[in-house]
Amino acid sequence: MLLLPVAAACGWWLAKRDERRKQEESAQGLLYPDYFKGLNYLINEQPDKAIEVFVKMLEVDAETVETHFALGSLFRRRGEVDRAIRIHQNLIARPTLTPEQCNQALLELGEDYLRAGWFDRAESLFLKLTETPETFSDSLMSGGACTSQMVPALRSLRDIYQQEREWDKAIHVAYKLETVTGKKLNNIIAQYHCELAEQARQQHDVDEANRIIKRALASDPDCVRASILQGDIDMLSGHYVSALRAYKNVEEQDADYLAEVIPRIVDCYNKLGTPHEIAGYLKQILQKYAGVVPLLAFAELLRDQQGEQDAAIFVVEHLNKQPTLSGLACLVDLYLVGSEGKIRGQLLTLNTAIKKLLQERPLYQCGQCGFSGKSLHWQCPSCKKWGVMKPVQGLDETP
Ligand SMILES: [Zn+2]
Repeated sequence: MLLLPVAAACGWWLAKRDERRKQEESAQGLLYPDYFKGLNYLINEQPDKAIEVFVKMLEVDAETVETHFALGSLFRRRGEVDRAIRIHQNLIARPTLTPEQCNQALLELGEDYLRAGWFDRAESLFLKLTETPETFSDSLMSGGACTSQMVPALRSLRDIYQQEREWDKAIHVAYKLETVTGKKLNNIIAQYHCELAEQARQQHDVDEANRIIKRALASDPDCVRASILQGDIDMLSGHYVSALRAYKNVEEQDADYLAEVIPRIVDCYNKLGTPHEIAGYLKQILQKYAGVVPLLAFAELLRDQQGEQDAAIFVVEHLNKQPTLSGLACLVDLYLVGSEGKIRGQLLTLNTAIKKLLQERPLYQCGQCGFSGKSLHWQCPSCKKWGVMKPVQGLDETP
């Protein structure tokens, strides 16, 4: 009877010795033949067989977990999402994983799903990583410590909600990200509010749109988009005084966007029945900022009030100081009026050439990645950053 515990102890000792030997071998770089077999399959472009071997190894040795992570992310990067999913699903099925490894495997699988376009599945995994009591609420209550998977999971969730245009959820996640990272995201949150305000406006719910715009400005008082949106809504509602106030805020918020609001401000003065105030406004803008948009607006005003000749003199003065293609186009337009014969023909040719050059120019450019185009995107279509596309400001063309 005494032999039984001894045998059990012996078995335990042998098992431990075996495990220790394997650990020593592994530490010395003496990995199992299976490992090389797996590598060999991989090198010979037989990834399915390689996965078989590696997954089998995982059952034997939990220390190869890192290899599996590396392999999984390699497949995902190469666009072989099915293989990456298989590896990560197999990892999650292992009962021997530490909680940290399990969370990492969930995060990787979520990224695989995202890459495959399965947003629902990805979302539920990322939510699991960010909203379980032990990973989020409790960690914040205990002083902000959180799992290393939480921040990437929150960022991926935010990407999903941005792509799905679920702005309420994007706001919710952005606030969490702010809490976890300590990094302010108020300008991005303001953009999400603006997206919601646009949706409300499209549904003709002006009151709701106004409420949301206030939230955007509370989040980021320098949100140009919120001011422009406010002005546009007020204009449509016939509230020209408040529209003018909203548009004029842009100068303080970010003067780079003045080109966007100057035509709207001119429109406001006209609607208010105070067009005589336009000249004063444009003059003070021209004194403070170099730009072709206030120049063109002022030239148009002069043409209407004093005729083409005075407008042309004004444009020539500015072209001497700051040559721009748009200014030149305006001058040719002014000279065309009243011209005749051969001169008119030449001016028309010049006009066509300049207009063609202007058509080929981008109107807006991203300050981060250089993407340019004819439309103002509040989120750059290329680098996906918010509020970085601005009216083009080049050496020869300042809006
Ligand atoms: Zn960009």
